[in-house]
Amino acid sequence: MTEVDLSKIEKAVSMILEAVGEDPEREGLLDTPKRVAKMYAEVFEGLNKDPRQYFETVFHENHDEVVLVKDIPFHSMCEHHLVPFFGHAHIAYIPRNGVVAGLSKLARAVETTAKRPQLQERITSTVANAMMDMLNPIGVYVIIEAEHMCMTMRGIKKPGAKTVTTVARGIYEHDDVKRAEILSLLK
Ligand SMILES: [Zn+2]
Repeated sequence: MTEVDLSKIEKAVSMILEAVGEDPEREGLLDTPKRVAKMYAEVFEGLNKDPRQYFETVFHENHDEVVLVKDIPFHSMCEHHLVPFFGHAHIAYIPRNGVVAGLSKLARAVETTAKRPQLQERITSTVANAMMDMLNPIGVYVIIEAEHMCMTMRGIKKPGAKTVTTVARGIYEHDDVKRAEILSLLK
């Protein structure tokens, strides 16, 4: 894994502060570049990590109906504006031959995928694809609802507006009844 270059971030943040007309030497801002660098290292720690790692260990359970984990909270950073977007992911899948993932691993996959400059659409498909690759389930349906700070605090300024993205794989791609089942479980 590549190390995050903290001092480079510090220099860049200091330059941004200068460029907007601030004085990076004033008391309140003195440690800001350091703090931002540490924060970026944390919020981007999913870079170069592959969410498929969480599905390397599987369990065999006599269960061939839907598994739904809903309301998985996440925070990410919009790659277009480098401001947060955050919300909840809901992941449904139907195991094949009883091959199931650890439930907490679904949340870990979302978290890792979210912790890099991202697009909501890409988080949704990355998680779905990782599960298809590793678990070979009958189907996966991932739904993400999020609020984007780039829509809330700038531009069109629409606080509370939610963006919903869905990715259906396997049986969910063409089975309306199966998708409707998930949507009703989410209500
Ligand atoms: Zn944005």
